[in-house]
Order: sequence, then structure tokens, then C-alpha cells
Amino acid sequence: MPGPEPRTPGTLDVRTDPALWSFLARERRRARATVPWDGDATLGHVVQSLGIPLTEVGALRLDGRPAAPQDRPVPGVEVAILPVDRPQEVPGATGFLLDVGLGTLARRLRVLGIDAAYRNDAADAELVRDGAAQHRIVLTQDRGLLMRRALWAGAHVRGDRPDDQLADVLDRFAPPLAPSTRCTACNGDLAPAPPEEVAGELKAGTRRTYAEFARCRSCGRVYWQGAHAEGLERIVGAARAVVRRRRP
Ligand SMILES: [Zn+2]
Repeated sequence: MPGPEPRTPGTLDVRTDPALWSFLARERRRARATVPWDGDATLGHVVQSLGIPLTEVGALRLDGRPAAPQDRPVPGVEVAILPVDRPQEVPGATGFLLDVGLGTLARRLRVLGIDAAYRNDAADAELVRDGAAQHRIVLTQDRGLLMRRALWAGAHVRGDRPDDQLADVLDRFAPPLAPSTRCTACNGDLAPAPPEEVAGELKAGTRRTYAEFARCRSCGRVYWQGAHAEGLERIVGAARAVVRRRRP
């Protein structure tokens, strides 16, 4: 009986799940690829050197057995890289923290009542530090950021359009939704406000048209029920459908 095919020492036989192919160099986007290995690097280092942040990896295997990022492979071993489970559970997470390019996504998450902290001037190091201090999941499209050691939790957001980005985050984490409970401007909580209390801050037309109002506890901005209702219903309806698929 023929034995296993001889393998070149100093290489690893890597099988990457198709869900992670977008991170790989074009020539490695296939079910199996042979990659060079310096004889010392840990499994986690090998995965990241292929371009895949460990935040995107759900499980690693060496010759079919479960393995950890700190394990060291041996030459010729088969490495399997699998994506995170969806919905992904992140124990202890308090909310999200979004990278500078994702302001529109932040506002959409807030519309759905999802805690989405965002600043348009945060440097990478600040995002990583604040995410760790506040136990927030950092959402970004920057792979280098996701590979920083000090990161507490993070996720790569797929898609160029905010609709696709929102669908990806909802599909990955399936968070609880609470539409119209959060300030889209600052991420603060909204509290009901009696009409007479907010009347002075509204245009006459708004005062006449709407009966239910809320005020942001953080920045004081006033919201009224029914504004932009159609667009809101579309976003909420689509969001509920995505979350329901993951948590039926
Ligand atoms: Zn606010």
C-alpha cells in the first residue's frame, strides 16, 4: 500500500474554510495550500501571517485535532482554519466600539438600540485601549488593528455599503434589538419626555404633528415618535429578519 505523499520539510499543509478566503492572498484562495514555515512560529502566528486575524477564527486543528493559537505545529502537519460561529457569543461584552470609517454603521446600530460607541478621530491605539477598558467589541475593516495584542475583542466588518455592514454585524452577533431607545447622535439612552417639557425646543409643525417625545439622557437632544417612520420600519424589519435567522 502506498504511504502518505512525501512532504517538504519546513512547510505546512493549510486548509482554510471558504468563509475566510477573502483574507488570503489570491493564490492561496483554495481549499488546500502549502505555506512555508520557519520551524518556530506558533499556529496563531502562522494564521495571522496568512492575513487572517485571530478574531475571525473560531477553531484551529492540527491533523484533525483541536489546537490553540499558542501551539507549535510540526513540519508536514495539516492545519485547518475555521471561521467563528454565528451567532458569536462574546461573554462580558458591553457593546461595540466602531473604527473611524464606520460612522454610518454606528448610527444604524443606534437606531436599533444597539450600544455603538464611535468617535471620528480615534487613533488605532485608543480604540484598542478603550475597547479593552470598556469591554467593547471593536468593529473595523482594518486587519492590522484586529491583530494588535492588546485587543480585548474585535470583529472584521464585511461590506462596503452600510446596509451590508449592518447585515453582517447583525448576522454575526444577533444582538437584542430595542429600536428608538438610543440617541443616534451620541449613543446615549433616551427617556420619555412630556410634550410640555420639550415644546419650547420644537418647531410648531413638529409640535402639532407628534404626541410622543423622548430626550437623550446624555446630550439632551429631543426625539419624536413617527419621524422618518417608513425608513425606520424598513431598517428595523430587515434587522429583525437577520437576527431571527440566527436565533429562531
Ligand atoms: Zn445624545
